[in-house]
Parts: sequence; C-alpha cells; structure tokens
Amino acid sequence: QPQDFKSLSSPHLPEQYGCGPIQFRGSHDGLYERHLLFDNVIAPEDAGNRERYEAIARSVRDVLSQRWQRTEQTYNRENPKRVYYLSMEFLIGRSLSNNLLNLRLDPLAKRLFDHEHIDELAVLAEEPDAGLGNGGLGRLAACFLDSMATMQLPAMGYGLRYEYGIFKQTIVDGWQREQPDNWLRRPDPWEVARPQEAVEIKLGCSFEVRGGNLRVAVGMPSRLIGIPYDRPVVGYGGMTINTLRLWAAATPESFDFQTFGAGEFVSALAQRLTAETVTRVLYPDDSTSMGQGLRFVQEYFLVACSLADLVRRFRSNNSDWHSLPGKVAIQLNDTHPSMAVAELMRILLDDADLSWDDAWDLTRACLAYTNHTLLPEALEKWPLRWFELMLPRHLEIILEIDRRFKEEILNRFPHDQGLVERASLIEHGGEHLVRMAHLAIVGSHSTNGVAEIHSRLLRETTVKDLAGIFPQRFNNKTNGVTPRRWLLMSNLELARCINDAIGEGWITDLSELERLKPLVDDSGFVDQVREAKRMAKHRFAAWLKSSAGIVVDPSAIFDSQVKRIHEYKRQLLNALRIVALYNRIRENPDLDMAPRTFFFSGKAAPAYVVAKLIIKFLNNLAGTIDADPQVRGRLKVVFLPDYCVSVAERLIPASDVSNQISTAGYEASGTSNMKFMMNGALTIGTRDGATIEMAEAAGEDNFFLFGLTAEEVAGSRGWYSPYWHYDNEPETRAVLDLILSGHFCRHEPGVVDALRNILLTSGDVFRHLADLTSYLEADQRLQSLYADPRAWTRKALLNIASSGKFSSDRTIADYAAEIWDARPCPVA
Ligand code: PLP
Repeated sequence: QPQDFKSLSSPHLPEQYGCGPIQFRGSHDGLYERHLLFDNVIAPEDAGNRERYEAIARSVRDVLSQRWQRTEQTYNRENPKRVYYLSMEFLIGRSLSNNLLNLRLDPLAKRLFDHEHIDELAVLAEEPDAGLGNGGLGRLAACFLDSMATMQLPAMGYGLRYEYGIFKQTIVDGWQREQPDNWLRRPDPWEVARPQEAVEIKLGCSFEVRGGNLRVAVGMPSRLIGIPYDRPVVGYGGMTINTLRLWAAATPESFDFQTFGAGEFVSALAQRLTAETVTRVLYPDDSTSMGQGLRFVQEYFLVACSLADLVRRFRSNNSDWHSLPGKVAIQLNDTHPSMAVAELMRILLDDADLSWDDAWDLTRACLAYTNHTLLPEALEKWPLRWFELMLPRHLEIILEIDRRFKEEILNRFPHDQGLVERASLIEHGGEHLVRMAHLAIVGSHSTNGVAEIHSRLLRETTVKDLAGIFPQRFNNKTNGVTPRRWLLMSNLELARCINDAIGEGWITDLSELERLKPLVDDSGFVDQVREAKRMAKHRFAAWLKSSAGIVVDPSAIFDSQVKRIHEYKRQLLNALRIVALYNRIRENPDLDMAPRTFFFSGKAAPAYVVAKLIIKFLNNLAGTIDADPQVRGRLKVVFLPDYCVSVAERLIPASDVSNQISTAGYEASGTSNMKFMMNGALTIGTRDGATIEMAEAAGEDNFFLFGLTAEEVAGSRGWYSPYWHYDNEPETRAVLDLILSGHFCRHEPGVVDALRNILLTSGDVFRHLADLTSYLEADQRLQSLYADPRAWTRKALLNIASSGKFSSDRTIADYAAEIWDARPCPVA
C-alpha cells in the first residue's frame, strides 16, 4: 500500500491496481496536485472545494481505470455468460466516498485531507447526488450493481443518462416545490463518453416534443443516436470494476456535419434538440403509469440501445446465435424495459434470420422479469396505436406472440371461458392497450416478486391467470441492500464496533453478523453499540444544524419515516400517532414520556395532490408543536427537505426507530426497512413486504408489529367503517377532532379540510383509522422498552445480528443461481 495520496503516482502505484509507470511526469508528483494543476490550472493552496473534489475524484479514477479496462478485457477473453441489468432508474447517489471505500483507499484519502487541511465533508458535498431514480426501484438497481461487482460477476447495468434527475424538493410555506436537478451542470469525473460505440435506433415516425407532449408526424420514419456514457462500478476490494452504461439521445445530424455543409444549419440543430429531449428528464412518479408518449420513446430507446450493444458484444465472441442464452442473461427491472421481448425477437428474426420458433426459444431463455408493484395504477399498458405509429414491426411481433399464446391457452385450458381474454397481451374495450406485464411474463423464463408476501400476492391476485398458465416461471427474490454503502460507509462508529468484535468478514458475507448474537449478553459490548448509536446521532444533529439550521436534541428518541410520500406508505397514519401523543401531553403535562423527535423526509410526485397535502400537513404539525410551549422540548417533528441517497446515509445510522407502516399488502418489499435494521434501529411496522421476513429473522419479540394483515385488509372491504373507529375509540376521535378543528393550520383556514375526505370515508382503501389504535399500543411498548437502555440496545443488536439475509449479495447470489445461471469471472 502506498503511504499517502501523494505517493499515488508513478512509480509507486500499487501493482494491485494494475497501474504500470505513468508516462507523464510533471513537476508535481502526486496525482491530486497534478489534476489541480493540469485540469484546473490552480495551486493546491488556492483550490476551492469543488476543484478539490474534482482533483480527488480524477485521481481515484486514474487508479481504477486500468483495472476497469482489464475487467472488460478479461470478460472478452474468457467469454463468460454475462448479466445485463436493464433499468430505467439507477439511484446511485454520490460515488467518491463509495469508490474510495471499495478500492480501500479511504485511509489514504484521510491522510490527504489531514495533510492538506481539507474539509472532508465540504469536499464530499461538492459531488451532486446522481439522482437517476425515484426511490426503491432505482436504489435497488444501484445496490445490485455494487453486489455484482463485489461478487465478481460479469455484469453490466444499462440505463438512461437523464440530464435532469429526480427534482430537487424545497419547502415553501409547508408546501413542496420542485426545482430542476441539473446534476450534469459541471463536469462529472466519473463518466466516460464513448461516441465510437454509439448505436442508431429507428422509429416508424418522426416526432417533436411540445410542452412535454410528444407529437408525431405519421409516415415519416426517423432515426435517433444513442451515445453511451460509462460509469465505473467498483467491487469491494477493487478487483472487479464493472460498467454502468447510460445512454444519451442525439440525432444523426449531430454526427453528420454534411447536413450543416448543405446549408441546413438551423433545421439540423432544431431537430437535434427534439431528439435530445428523449433523455432530458426522469419521470418523477414511481406509482402511476402516466401514459406519456415521451416515456414510451424513452423506454424503447433504452431497450433498443442496450440490446444492440449487448448483441454486438455477443457477436464479437460467438458465431452461433443459438449460444445466446449460454452467454447472455437479461434482467428487466419492472416492465419499463419489457419492449425487450419484441426487440430481441425482431433482432433474431430480421437480423439473424432465425425461424420464429428458434427466435422465441432464445428470447425467453435470455429474458427474466422482476415485478415491483401490485398497485393496479402502476401497471403499464401502452396504447396499441403508439406501437402502430412508432414501432410497427414490433407491433406485428407482439400480435403474433399474442396469437400463438391464445392458441396455446385454448389448447391447454379449453374449458376456461374468458381466460383467453384475461391473459391476452392486448386489452380490448375502449382503446386497445398492450399489457406490458403480460408481454414480460409470456416472453421470459422467470417472473419474480421482491419479497415472499409480494411474490405470493402477485401469483394469487395481480397476474393470477398467467401464474396459472406458467406456474414454474414464478419465483421470489427478496430484496437486499449493499452493506458496503449502507453500513460500512455510512456508519463508521457501528462498523468499527462490529469489526472489533468479529473481524471484517461481514463486509462481503453479511451472514457473519450472526456471530454477534452471543454478544447480546455481554454488557460491555452492548454499551459499545449504544455508544456507537449515540455518536451517530450527535454526528447527524451537528450536520442538521450546520446544513439546515435545525436544532435537535440527540438524547431524544430519533423516530424516522423516510421514503416517497404516498397514501399507501401512510405518512398520515404516523401523523395521527404524533397528534395522539401531543394530545396526551397536553391533557397530562406530567406524563412520563421520553422526548421524541420524529423525522420525515420524502418527495411527492408533482401531480399527486394528496401526497403534497400530506407534506403540507406534516410541516404544519411541525410548526404547531414548535410553537406550543407545553409540548416543545418533549415532541419535535422535522420534515427534512429533498430526501435523497446522501440524506438517507446520514439519517438512517442516527435513527432509533424505523417506521414501516404501509397498509398490509401494498408495499412490495421496501429496502429502507433493511437499512434501518442493519444500523440498529428497531422497527415499528405492519406485516408487509420484507418487514415480515425481517421480523421472522430477528424474532417477532424483537419487533413492534401491529395492524391488519394483508388478508384482513383484503377482507375488510365489506366492513371497514372509519366512523366506527371515530365513534368507539375516544383517542382516535380526539385526534381527528383536533385536526379537523383547524388547530394545525390556524392561519390558513380550510387548508387541510381535504383530510376529512381521505380519513373519514369508507373508501379509504389504506385503512388509516383501522390501524391507529394498534399502532399506539405498539408505540407504548416501544416507549417502555426505551426506558431500559440496555434492554433496548440488546434488541437493536439482535436486529443487527439477524440482518444478514438482507444483503443484496444474498439476493444477487439467488438471482445468479436460480435465474441467470451466471458465475463469477475473476479479473486476473
Ligand atoms: N429513496 C432513497 C433515497 C432510499 O435510500 C431508499 C431506500 O433506502 C428509498 C427511497 C426506498 O425507501 P422505502 O423502501 O422505504 O420505500
């Protein structure tokens, strides 16, 4: 190991990184100084934090670039089966600290920061979060990339290089405001443009985007260019460096300077703008399929670019098309890339000249689909007419798949009237729609849900007919999260405690945490874990004060609910609980209750009116409590604006309590639940998603479970009456009366009136009031436990020790063995 960052220059570069002597030697030896001097033309002492960030990031990239290239060379030489993960979202967050950590260069970086008197936090904060996703689905994709690289799997992520990621959220008068996230405004040291590997995509019509809407010119075929931008995905230990390839859209004209020469300067540039809008912005909604034409083009663009690219890579090493499934596994992250079924068929039929049956066998053998939601409004269905206009050949293929599929159904299930109609890829009635989930299931060999309960409900409800037709295709892969970013990197204090107790094996084999179990009765160790939490809380409180001017008391219980704002996630139920506690203190000022700080953070889809109202209510609740001298200092509510990966990395380690309180049957898996668990928070939650498996792993005694089960929620359709709860539960009634009296919006009369219609209607499918009483009971148990700090930490430790299953390494090992049949390909 070199001793410091300065010595990371020729000839001292560590051989382990595959770095030979660097050719160019300037007067400054260290990579860091050289980047400052030659990229920014600035002396170290004059550099600002942004220049410092860029110079450090570029130094790290220098260190990894040969290894990155060598990874690709190894794959080319060994020709292993490769995994391609197609996702419209990758919620990566920041890369510098993660890459330093995974390359194990963090001690060197520390030394540089100390030596140069660099403010580490300020420099790291110069990196914008790569917010190319909405929430869980995109963050899962990012965790999977980390695990695949760490496990030395020959894998690649494919996504879109959105110029604008998820919007920046500000809060004005309690309301969410959206600001564009221009994250690429400044040079990004991590991305490498590869215009020489650009691909051309054909559409059956030309289009323009006006006011965000797509307008097509029928009968005018058009072309788009996909330019790849590669980002390194560093596996832990720095052995394997895989690639995340993000596509940016351009027109052929930007490549074809003849057009300019022919005098069409202005029109060529104008057309270029239209093409570039395809990858301009991420759709900021993770729970409804909005039927936007531009989104349709985005999805096809991702699929067409990625398949062209992976087929080219396959062809460069393999001459026989029939070996495709032996060399290529393609995982579709939700239905967003499910046009891959039709696109791969098109390639195999039209370019490879294979027969239908051969093409169909190969397509299904290569593709696998992950379902992420049971919400009917999120299931994608695209108008058949759009296929007709833009992708006529694909429509032909989809209709032929459908025709053959219906024939098979009639043969196999001749007595089930209506099955053909229900299972068909096409929905009739009104406008004809293509059911993308059906296309993905029929055209692949595997469909998985993301937690046991979700996979079961998927089979039994959402796509019951298809599960009946192809029972063997359905399986479960419970989600996981990477312990490198979410424990080792974000929670230094706890990671150090664990290392001291059981060594570092857990970093790449999280089941090792089991070895902490015998230590739950070692009071010395339990005290160390408690001290780690205390330090994490202080660190967070200091950051909150310096970054947002918000002062919180680290000795209070930190009780968090951070995730997208959605009715099914029930931030409102949490608010009702807080109002109940508020009432209790006002009624009995001597009440013995530990001080609590409730943290909320999360974004609402810009068009989701109710979710935005929930944010407003949470902010008003926070303001009212702060202004109430009777309650101030005992309860506090904080709405942290602009939830993102970096905020999660800070808040999760500092939390004592994790709220996972979705209406049972609605949350597919959840992943923040796992992050909280491995960071030693106790969960108060419903029996939903992966929380059920977490409680099983830790023992229900170590969880605070409450509320209706998924079966009870489904069965409550006939009897649910919020007024029953209002009439029979005095505390519920008091909470609602106070809210509806306008107590929390004294200067804005009527502003939360709509909450009445949400909470007090039997049409409240999210059953807020049904679960409030049991939530408060669970909360009471939680408060009692907190009064005994050692007993509390003992349970927290049991949770940490039981969280091994929720590593994304375990999830990826399951995908590799049971879906992809993929093996590691170590880099020499
Ligand atoms: N958004 C961010 C930034 C996250 O880090 C996570 C997971 O930790 C999520 C969204 C998903 O959260 P949840 O599983 O609670 O929906």
